[in-house]
Amino acid sequence: MQRCFVALGSNLEQPLLQVERAVEALKVLPESELKAVSPWYHSVAVGPEQPDYINGVAELDTSQSPLDLLRLLQAIENAQQRKRLQRWGPRTLDLDLLLYADRQINEPDLVVPHPRMLERNFVLRPLYDLAPALVLAGGVSLKQQLARVGMQGLCLVTP
Ligand code: AMP
Repeated sequence: MQRCFVALGSNLEQPLLQVERAVEALKVLPESELKAVSPWYHSVAVGPEQPDYINGVAELDTSQSPLDLLRLLQAIENAQQRKRLQRWGPRTLDLDLLLYADRQINEPDLVVPHPRMLERNFVLRPLYDLAPALVLAGGVSLKQQLARVGMQGLCLVTP
């Protein structure tokens, strides 16, 4: 089994419900075991004007290959009727494979670690909740990177 982290995000059609439904789907992913889910965060959208997001991160052990895992995540997105109207635009559900063990993957369909995760506090902060001691590729600690990026636009969703 390989340890993976998956980012979840939604800003359409009851976002909290969407990410919670995605967690249910992650629980039954074949050859995988959902280990933990971060708290949810509310984040102000970047890119074109659009509703705010709910974001979080899930930790998963899996024996699926990285590409098979990506396909399974995309199937969950599709099952929740993700709308791809514009790049960076609103979406019902976005699932990104952040990390797959300590693998570096550069394929046309899959880049891991996820190339934009380092700049996104809505990814770094929930990842930090699950793995505070994590050191990122290049030797920067998650904690340092989070301090660099800051918490602007991000707040914890209180249950
Ligand atoms: P997005 O619209 O941001 O969800 O991007 C989806 C596209 O990014 C898909 O075509 C994927 O093949 C590609 N992609 C590349 N790397 C990743 C990754 N680590 N996680 C999810 N999608 C990825």
